[in-house]
Amino acid sequence: MACTGKFFVGGNWKCNGTKDSITKLVSDLNSAALEPDADVVVAPPFVYIDQVKNSLTDRIDISAQNSWVQKGGAFTGEISVEQLKDIGCKWVILGHSERRHIIGEDDQFIGKKAAYALSEGLGVIACIGELLQEREAGKTFEVCYRQLKAFADAVPSWDNIVIAYEPVWAIGTGKVATPLQAQEVHVAVRDWLKKNVSEEVASKTRIIYGGSVNGSNCAELAKQEDIDGFLVGGASLKGPEFATIVNSIT
Ligand code: PGA
Repeated sequence: MACTGKFFVGGNWKCNGTKDSITKLVSDLNSAALEPDADVVVAPPFVYIDQVKNSLTDRIDISAQNSWVQKGGAFTGEISVEQLKDIGCKWVILGHSERRHIIGEDDQFIGKKAAYALSEGLGVIACIGELLQEREAGKTFEVCYRQLKAFADAVPSWDNIVIAYEPVWAIGTGKVATPLQAQEVHVAVRDWLKKNVSEEVASKTRIIYGGSVNGSNCAELAKQEDIDGFLVGGASLKGPEFATIVNSIT
């Protein structure tokens, strides 16, 4: 932890689960012993948010995996920030690589979504990260800075933002970034914030790592100075393993 905020661990359940499997996952989370000093959030698929909200311990906050860019209305298939607040969400994940690269959301659109969600009082887990070919071409920092700038250009304040650095080549692949690879980018992100936003924001903002984090590799990653928590996909679907990751706080 290099920042002054609390360790932050988010579980991104993505498009996984059924009523039954989620009942089991919630029950495992409810009985897990979680470090009191960590902020813990889970992001169920939209259709199960209400079920989770009604059965999960208040110790864990709920995030959405996406939200619409403006007030709800005639936008078929979308879910509005107002609706998310109505069912008890506190956070939303925006700019996840699966939305950038599979769905085609661009930097500016994601920035606008973040600004709208913040303006309505949701916290934003703002995801950034490079593709494998971008890393191999030596463009990791350039890509992360460009994605950061799009957030910075759109949002009026960083008070309610957690940055998730998720190298795309590490997501769902089992190929986790080494602690040093992650730390190097986290430092660069903090430095970028210092130079382009403010020193205060750089020291307050949590920068969490995502990409194949699991119960076995979390402790080494958490030891890195600038890793302030994790965004976890696959391993967040197993309650005890997710608890291990939460408890890797150093
Ligand atoms: P993973 O996903 O942990 O399954 O790699 C991380 C994420 O996409 O947030």
